[in-house]
Amino acid sequence: MSAGGKLDTFILDAAGPRPGAGLFGLNNQQLTEQLGEFHLPGWRIRQLETALYSQRVTTLDEVTTWPKDLREQVKTAGFEVRLTRIAETFRSVDGTERYLIACADGQTVETVWMPEGDGAEDDDSAPEPASGEAPSARSWTRATICVSSQIGCAVNCQFCLTAKLGIIRNLTAGEIAGQVAAVLNRHQAQPGRDRINLVFMGMGEPFLNYDAFMDAARLLAGPMAIPESRMTVSTSGIVPGILRFAEEPIRPRLAISLNAPNDAVREAIMPITRKWAIADVIEAVRKLPLRPRERVTFEYVLLSGVNDQAQHADEVARLVRRANFPARVNLIAWNPGPGVPFAMPDAQSVDAFQQRLRAGGVPAFIRRPRGRDIYAACGQLKKTMD
Ligand code: SAH
Ligand code: SF4
Repeated sequence: MSAGGKLDTFILDAAGPRPGAGLFGLNNQQLTEQLGEFHLPGWRIRQLETALYSQRVTTLDEVTTWPKDLREQVKTAGFEVRLTRIAETFRSVDGTERYLIACADGQTVETVWMPEGDGAEDDDSAPEPASGEAPSARSWTRATICVSSQIGCAVNCQFCLTAKLGIIRNLTAGEIAGQVAAVLNRHQAQPGRDRINLVFMGMGEPFLNYDAFMDAARLLAGPMAIPESRMTVSTSGIVPGILRFAEEPIRPRLAISLNAPNDAVREAIMPITRKWAIADVIEAVRKLPLRPRERVTFEYVLLSGVNDQAQHADEVARLVRRANFPARVNLIAWNPGPGVPFAMPDAQSVDAFQQRLRAGGVPAFIRRPRGRDIYAACGQLKKTMD
C-alpha cells in the first residue's frame, strides 16, 4: 500500500470529523471521489446533488431520498453538509440586507440582498425583523444578491473600504456558492420560480481567486439553477483572468471597473493600472466571445473633482467607442467610508456625466446606491461587527 493509502486509512480510523469533509461546494465528480468508500451508484450521487444545491439542505439528515442507514454511515465517516450560515443581519430602510456569513474556520464574509419591486425599496414603515429572523411577508418580485469572492482584497483601490483589510484569504467554491444558498434559504427564494440575479461585486477580486470563483459559478449555473446570463462578475482588470474567462463555455457576464478616463487618473486611484494599463484590459476583453445581445459593462465610480468632469466624460466616451464592442457604462456615485479620502459627487454632476456620455453615443446608466445606511453599498464592505 502506498503512503497515501496508509494516510487515508489513518484518517478514516481517526475519531471525529476529518478536515475537508464538508460536502457543500463539491461538484458531481468531487462528490463521487469523496464518497468513493461507499461505492454509491451515480443516481445516489445525483440525489445528494439535488438535496445540496436544489433543496439546499443544511444537514445530511434532510437528504430524505437516501435511506437512513446510508445517511448515518456517511455521517459516521465524518462527512457533513457544512453550508455557510448567516451570523448577523443588518437591514436597511430601503429593504437591502447585509449579512455577515460565517465560514467553518470562524472567519466572516459579507453578502448583500437587494430586493426589487412591490414597494420593497421604499417601505420603511414596516417593522424591522430582529437580527437573524427572516422577514415574514414577501415584499419583492425579484432580487439581486451581491456575492464576495475573497475575505479582504489585495488590489488596493484607493476609494474602496474593502482594500483597507488587505487580503485575508481566498474563499472556497463552497463558501462562494454557499453565500447564495444561505441567502436564498433565508428568503425562501427558489431560482426558476423567482427571478434572482447575482453580482460578484462583494469583497475581493474574483479573478485573483479564479478557480474557486469559476467552480462556484458552474455550481450556481448548473445544479443551483441560476442562469449564467443573470450573473455578472466584476473585475478591476486582471488581464490573465479575463483571458481565461474568455475561454469558458459557461460564464457570467463581464463588468470591468474602469473608474477613470485614462491611465494617469486610473493609476492614482487604482495602482493595479501600473501592471495592466487600460489598453491591455480592453485588448483582453476583445477576446471574449459575446452572446447575442450581450454587452460588457464598464463600471465607473464618480469621485468628486477626480474623474467626474465634462472632459473626463468625453474621454470615456471616446475610449468606449474605440473599444468597438457592445458595451455600456454604469455610473456609481462614490459611497463614503471612514478613512477613505474622497468626496461624493452631487446628483447634478452625476446626471451631467451621464448626459455627456449619452451625447457621445455611449449607453450610460446610473446605479442607485443600496443600503448605504448599513454600509452595504458598493465599496463599503468590510468585515466589521459594528
Ligand atoms: N473587486 C472587483 C469587484 C468588487 S468591487 C472590482 O473591483 O471590480 C465592485 C465595484 O464597486 C467596483 O466597480 C468598484 O469600482 C466599486 N467600488 C469600490 N469602492 C466603491 C465605493 N466606495 N463607492 C462606490 N463604488 C465602489
Ligand atoms: Fe478590491 Fe474591487 Fe475594492 Fe479594488 S474595488 S480594492 S479590486 S474589492
